[in-house]
Amino acid sequence: MSSYEYLHMIRDINDSTVWWDAKVVVYDKTHPRRASSSPRLYQRITFMDTLGQKVDATIFGDDDIAFFDHAFNLHETYIISNAWVNCISEKCYNRHNYPYQWVVDIDTEFRLEVSDPIPRSLLQHHFTSFSDIHTLIGNEHLHLDILAIVIDRKEPRSVFARGGLNHIKEYVLLDQQHKAVVLTLWNVVAESEGNVIDTCIDTLPIIRATALFVSPYYGGSLGSTMWTTVAVNPQIPEAAALKSWRQNNMLAIAEAVKGKQHFDKISSISDIFVDTKVDEFDVRVTAKITRRNQKGFYMGCGECRSAVSADYNYNYTCNICKKNTTATPHESILLTVTDPSCSLDVIAFGEQAVKFTRVNAVACMEMFDKGLKLTTDEINTTLGKVSFLMKIKKKKREFRNAVEFQYTVVKSEVNTEAAASSSH
Ligand SMILES: [Zn+2]
Repeated sequence: MSSYEYLHMIRDINDSTVWWDAKVVVYDKTHPRRASSSPRLYQRITFMDTLGQKVDATIFGDDDIAFFDHAFNLHETYIISNAWVNCISEKCYNRHNYPYQWVVDIDTEFRLEVSDPIPRSLLQHHFTSFSDIHTLIGNEHLHLDILAIVIDRKEPRSVFARGGLNHIKEYVLLDQQHKAVVLTLWNVVAESEGNVIDTCIDTLPIIRATALFVSPYYGGSLGSTMWTTVAVNPQIPEAAALKSWRQNNMLAIAEAVKGKQHFDKISSISDIFVDTKVDEFDVRVTAKITRRNQKGFYMGCGECRSAVSADYNYNYTCNICKKNTTATPHESILLTVTDPSCSLDVIAFGEQAVKFTRVNAVACMEMFDKGLKLTTDEINTTLGKVSFLMKIKKKKREFRNAVEFQYTVVKSEVNTEAAASSSH
């Protein structure tokens, strides 16, 4: 199988080579797409030989594309013979440092090479971690590849950019470090690759997306280039690892999906002090307990939660809601939240408090009765590993002729945005 009479390396094949075979691996592949200038479908495959030399090959037209529908799968090795070899423009030449493209059609001979494939170790795919993306903003010529889970999509829309009207589709991706970034697919890529994601969006698909650029939007996001390909649930070892991570982290992923819709415009904490027109702010912060020895609960009305000085289960009529009620423990925790602008003391009640302490009010009360307090250090260690998107409500209170503000956490999610330090 391994000996072919006319076996060539890609760099030795040009537009006057008359009889050749090449052993190549499918390095990359687009879905069929339509150029804006032509109604004809085309599909591009990037092949690579054992020397690491790459070449773009194109299949043109519906019939030929359908003919190769089940061939040229990602990372499979093929022997290709006598494809058409055409000169290409310098712009494309620079991409692989090879001045030709191949055209594959129904007459092109090809054979799957199973006995002696090109080893995967030669493919050298590097997937950029989402944690690094904000550090790459401004690097215009950088193209990067990613492997991630698609957790959400936004409404497709049209935007004026690059001197014209563009159709874009945006997806929210999550990687294994639990970081989320937005991927924007543009125009033909939105149509071809975007449509493939759309067909399985509800299954939290894993995608490998290539040749992306880094945009400063959303504090560091990704955009497609003309070379971008998207492989959905690719059969590669790295995807298998991410798949099992997805399996083991369904709850956290579900939280991330839910959290997306509720935080729009992120403010900085300093805005909260200055802005008098709004009383609710979304902030991206770290949180910790700075006031030690908190009980983690208070006794209050079983109906309206207003604080009361009474023993557990004591029956009384509430001064606030006027209802007949029993004294019930409710969670409360004072936290200090911090973003790059400053720090703020906030209070969280009920289920919002449990998100930070992981202990409910009854358990807090039982601990308190035994002379135990919340384990502040342990909680802070856990909190120190993540940051939060928080909705904070600002409430003015007049107390002994002085005006003071109380800041309450009304909603919070573990922050899955890429750039916790970028607040606008
Ligand atoms: Zn009450």
